[in-house]
This record gives sequence, structure tokens and C-alpha cells, in this order.
Amino acid sequence: MPFPDRLDIPEDVLEIARVLEDAGHAAWCVGGAIRDTLLGEPNSDYDIATAARPDEVQRLFRHVVAVGERFGTVAVRTRRRHHEVTTFRRDVQTDGRHAVVEYGATLEEDLARRDFTINAIAYHPLRYEWRDPFHGAADLAGRLVRAVGEPEQRFREDYLRILRALRFAARFEFGIEPETWAAILRAVPGLARLSAERVRDEWFKGLRTARSIPRLLELWLTSGAARVWLPELLAEQSTTPTPSVSPTGSPLVRRHGTVGRLPERAAALEGFTGARAGEVPRDPVLLTTLLCLDPMAVLVRLKASNAEIARAAAMVTGPPEPAGNGVVEVRRWMAAVGDAAEDLTVLWRLRHGAQPGWEPVLKGIRERGEPLTRRQLAVTGEDLREAGVPAGPAMGLLLDRLLALVVDDPSLNDRETLLHHARGGG
Ligand code: ATP
Ligand code: MG
Repeated sequence: MPFPDRLDIPEDVLEIARVLEDAGHAAWCVGGAIRDTLLGEPNSDYDIATAARPDEVQRLFRHVVAVGERFGTVAVRTRRRHHEVTTFRRDVQTDGRHAVVEYGATLEEDLARRDFTINAIAYHPLRYEWRDPFHGAADLAGRLVRAVGEPEQRFREDYLRILRALRFAARFEFGIEPETWAAILRAVPGLARLSAERVRDEWFKGLRTARSIPRLLELWLTSGAARVWLPELLAEQSTTPTPSVSPTGSPLVRRHGTVGRLPERAAALEGFTGARAGEVPRDPVLLTTLLCLDPMAVLVRLKASNAEIARAAAMVTGPPEPAGNGVVEVRRWMAAVGDAAEDLTVLWRLRHGAQPGWEPVLKGIRERGEPLTRRQLAVTGEDLREAGVPAGPAMGLLLDRLLALVVDDPSLNDRETLLHHARGGG
């Protein structure tokens, strides 16, 4: 892939580069934005690598936030957005999770500690020069994710790079270069040492950005990453749980064994890749629920938020669909599942590859604002107390009975009618 003469760099990024260069510090655009621009993909998240030390960067710019002081990264706020300015560094010590870094490095050294060749291309936004010591442009053209340097060593320095390789391969539908892939297979047990938060961010980001979700799953499965962090992806969605670790433990055997069904489960998604990719909501909680046998266990393990876990729980609790597509059946179901109705509708659509018959009915019910919860009843507990109903469990039962009435027939949701029913009439 020949480099274009110039890239169209946003003005605020140019301004940051000018300030740094005017103060005598080299400043280069690096990382994802350069990669994506060369691929013709949108990305406005510019990373700037500079010879200036973090404290010098902080002095030069008025609006700064130290985002990773430890890593030498300072976010510079411009009128438009934040841009990360990272000091050239080399890793002096790594433990698979973090690195101790040293400044005073050259651009070439800084590129050498980056993960993949396609992420190690630098462009000088003022002089229009390119630096690509690891031939990232050739790998972009050949559509390959290739580690910079000795692959196995690079994964042992930071096991997260394994998951990043899977994510980039699925996002761009790139292959993984054979030696890089072999190193992934050997290093994969080290994933166990990562923090749940970093793994979650990668899994979620992967689901959001993969051009092909089935490809992302296949990579997590065949690499063995799923065995370490998402064994629920391996289990078939049936009532008989399959062992999550095959007796041989070999990824190749697994590919033809227990994991065979997963691509089928994801088959509905395959129809949504490419041109129709936009039709799959890139919602990681929903997709995790779709793809994993026990999504709550997954989300708890990945330290997802309580709200995310509760959302998955509501989807699992169901029931997954109304008893029929009639308006009363759909209202009863919506009253039972609450806020999960829309999620369950999307899940059904993804599982069956078709729109469920109740979807338009559900939309009509929402549009008409028909009552589905106690709070929407035309009477309150207070009204009922005034009408002589004692507070306590009986009150709750009565409210439920009234709600059941109005769910079946919204025209009954009127104060007088409900009080009449509460007094034992009707
Ligand atoms: P995205 O589009 O997901 O932001 P990105 O390549 O910009 O992709 P970032 O996490 O924003 O990824 O990191 C910016 C750059 O920093 C990467 O392109 C890469 O050069 C380098 N980098 C990030 N994480 C690592 C890592 N774990 N090991 C080595 N280099 C890394
Ligand atoms: Mg980025």
C-alpha cells in the first residue's frame, strides 16, 4: 500500500503538533487513526507521540488531563475534543499485565514497543513524512495482523495483545500472520492473569466493532481465549450442558468437537454482516446474552456493572416471547417482563433471523401508552386506603388484580371504575 502524499489531519491535531514542534519536540501521529485513515475507515481519535516528557506536555497546553501519567499519556483538550499525547518510551520491565516505561526514547523505539505492525506506522502531520519500520503498510495491503518483533515475547509482555489481535482481525476481516497465530496459541493460558476489566473492555469493544461477529467468536474459540475467560461460549445452548473443557484440551480438537455448534448459534448474525451489519445492534450486553449459555455468570466474571447484569438477568428470566401475537397476550407479556420486552424482541429477531409477529403490536402498545405497571394505574394505594382497604399484603394483591384488569382492557383504567372494582363490584 503506497502512502498518500498527505493525510487530511484535523486542524486541532495540527495545532497540538505545531505547539510541540515549536517548543523543539518531535511530534508524530501514530496508532489507530493513521491505520484507519489508510484503510479508508473513519476514526477521529488521533494519538500523538512526542519526544516531550509528560510534564513538558502539561506545561505547553492549558487544558490537559493526565490520563495515564504512569504510561506517559496526557490528554490535551482542544475546542473539538481530547487528543492523547504520549511520550516516546521504551518498556524496561513487563509482567504480562503492566509495563514500567522509560522516556527519552526515539520514535523508532516507540514504534517498536507497539503491538502490531499496522498500529506502528507514524506520519508527521507538518512535514508529511512517513515512518514504517515494521512494514505495516504492506500488512494493511495484505490484510494481516502481525506482531511487531518476536510474537511470543510480545504476548508475554502484555497478554491483552492476544485479545487485541483477535479484535483487529475481526474488525477488519484480516488474517492473523501464521507465526503471530502460533504465538497466540502458546501464550493463551497467560490471559488468566489479566484483570477482568481489561478483558471486558476488549470483549465489548470486539462485539461493537467486528465487521463479522461470527469471525470474532471463531477467533476467541479457536485461539483458546474463550476457554480462559468465556467458557459459556463453548457450551451448546441446550438443556444438557457440555463440558466447557474438552478432555484433550487441544484447541484443534475443540474446533471440531464441542464448539462445533457455536457458529450455528451465531448463524443468524452472519446474515447481518457486511451490508446489513447495521441491523445487529452493537450492544455488548445483548450480544453476550445471545451468545453465552449463562450470560449472568459471564458478566459477573467480567465485572460488568450491576445495571448490565440486571439487564441480562431480565432477558434470561423472560418469558422469551408472548403466548401469542394478540394485543392482550402481548400486553400481558410486556407487563410480566417489564423493560426487558424490547431486548427480548431484538434477541428473538437475532435468534430467528426474522421480525417477530408481536413487534408491531408491542410498538402500538407503547405508542398508545397503555398501562402495564402498577404506577400507571389510575388509582394509587393511597386512594384505596381512603376507600377502606387496609395497608399490607392484601393491598398489594388488590393492586395486582386491578393491574391485571387494565392490562387485559385498558379502557378500565379510570379512577371510578377501579375503585368500584376494589370495593368488590364489577
Ligand atoms: P482503536 O481504534 O480501538 O482505538 P487503536 O489502535 O487506536 O485502536 P488504542 O488502544 O487506542 O488502539 O491504542 C493506540 C495505539 O497504542 C495502538 O495503535 C498501538 O500502537 C498502541 N497500543 C495500545 N495498546 C497497546 C498494547 N497493549 N501493547 C502495545 N501497544 C499498544
Ligand atoms: Mg485509539
